[in-house]
Amino acid sequence: DVAVVVFTSDLRLRDHPALHAAQRAADAVVPLFVRDRGVDGAGFATPNRLAFLADALTDLDAGLRERGGRLVVREGDVVEEVCTVVRDTGAGEVHLSAGVSAYARRREERLRAALEELRCPLRVHDGAVTAVPPGAVTPAGRDHFAVFTPYHRRWRESVRDAPLPAPRRIRVPDTAKGQGPPERGAVTGVSPGVPRGGETEGRRRMTAWLRSDVDAYEERHDDLAGDATSRLSPYLHFGCLSASELTHRALRHGGTGAEAFVRQLAWRDFHHQVLAARPDASWADYRPRGDRWRHDERELTAWREGRTGYPIVDAAMRQLAHEGWMHNRGRLLVGSFLTKTLYADWREGARHFLRLLVDGDMANNQLNWQWVAGTGTDTRPNRVLNPVTQGRRYDPDGAYVRRWVPELAGVGGSAVHEPWKLDASKLRAGGYPAPLVDLAVSRDRFLTARHRE
Ligand code: FAD
Repeated sequence: DVAVVVFTSDLRLRDHPALHAAQRAADAVVPLFVRDRGVDGAGFATPNRLAFLADALTDLDAGLRERGGRLVVREGDVVEEVCTVVRDTGAGEVHLSAGVSAYARRREERLRAALEELRCPLRVHDGAVTAVPPGAVTPAGRDHFAVFTPYHRRWRESVRDAPLPAPRRIRVPDTAKGQGPPERGAVTGVSPGVPRGGETEGRRRMTAWLRSDVDAYEERHDDLAGDATSRLSPYLHFGCLSASELTHRALRHGGTGAEAFVRQLAWRDFHHQVLAARPDASWADYRPRGDRWRHDERELTAWREGRTGYPIVDAAMRQLAHEGWMHNRGRLLVGSFLTKTLYADWREGARHFLRLLVDGDMANNQLNWQWVAGTGTDTRPNRVLNPVTQGRRYDPDGAYVRRWVPELAGVGGSAVHEPWKLDASKLRAGGYPAPLVDLAVSRDRFLTARHRE
């Protein structure tokens, strides 16, 4: 008998509950990926993510071929394509990893209904996307945690141990028809610094990270120029790495660095369990505060293009455009700048991030934006980050700004954070913009608006 495994955000062979179950249930398996038109239609198929996805699928196909199989790629409506494969191969069951977003849930429901008509059960597996499935731990009388610290405590007790092995052999029936994986080279408009995707590359980076770099994580994770975080987020987003295995291995490595790192993995799960319980929070305020966001196209453009005149903000925005990735400290401070200093709608920021981030993710992006804007789960929703103070603290020598803002490359030390104080002769001609807004005035504007609610 034949089982189909529908791959989504779980593009790997190791620690894959759905694949593992399918292999045990049937003697032939169809590893299927559908290039879903619905995902394209939702604006989620952006060049940076498509490039990374092409690598991930190519790598998955190679891994399957080493085991005697192959990846079957099809394009169209995901439900129709899965049903076609079920009919062509006479499959008796379909396996899928549980998703969290509203889109993933709808996909699951539609698939279940369509497969019922074919008398082919859909088996949905937890444990592929997060280390602890959403809903596995809950506070008394509620369906999700809205505060991180108590969540973290319970999460820590629930992490699953030993990861599942990759299958040794896979037999794919000849009746399963599809294309091969897409090519990265065919994707246009990709940011120059987008890393290579795939499980092989993800595991290489995970191993290198856990060998030693993680030990300094606690002290160095906020150092913008030091760039001392794992950069594993795109691999986690596409499921090239299992969050559960990564957590397990980091805990086994031990030490304060690994503990701090695991705490960040818990943040990832925290946002997933919020979105699972409140799927509307992908675009609607989790906690509406009556904000009347300002819409100033000139300011928005300056923010997107990294020309606000605040060097640390501009450096981070330019890193995003160049790499399809931004340091977490950068994300926090450009987010605060947009939603509090400019008092612009967090959805504008979330949309821009989703266009460029390789790790762009419904749960992590939308709920972090809400956290930053104070419409989400931040317990101090009205704090405003000052870009000059932030620059001095997290880029004390100014090296991060000089790396990304060439107009200021000739300015030494932390003076780079306040270019308006510099002698004009120190600034290059064709130079750096003056500050877009006054920090004190905008802070008052925001706090007055929030206190009027
Ligand atoms: P590390 O510091 O090495 O952390 C390890 C892993 O923990 C990360 O890969 C990530 O999976 C997880 N993690 C770390 N911080 C967070 C956090 N605050 N929330 C949730 N998970 C976290 N992360 C995304 O994966 N996708 C997004 O679309 C995304 N959008 C964001 C938007 C804003 C406004 C903010 C403030 C944060 C956002 N983050 C997002 C969270 C965080 O910035 C990134 O996960 C992190 O910078 C990725 O780099 P890293 O892998 O080197 O992280």
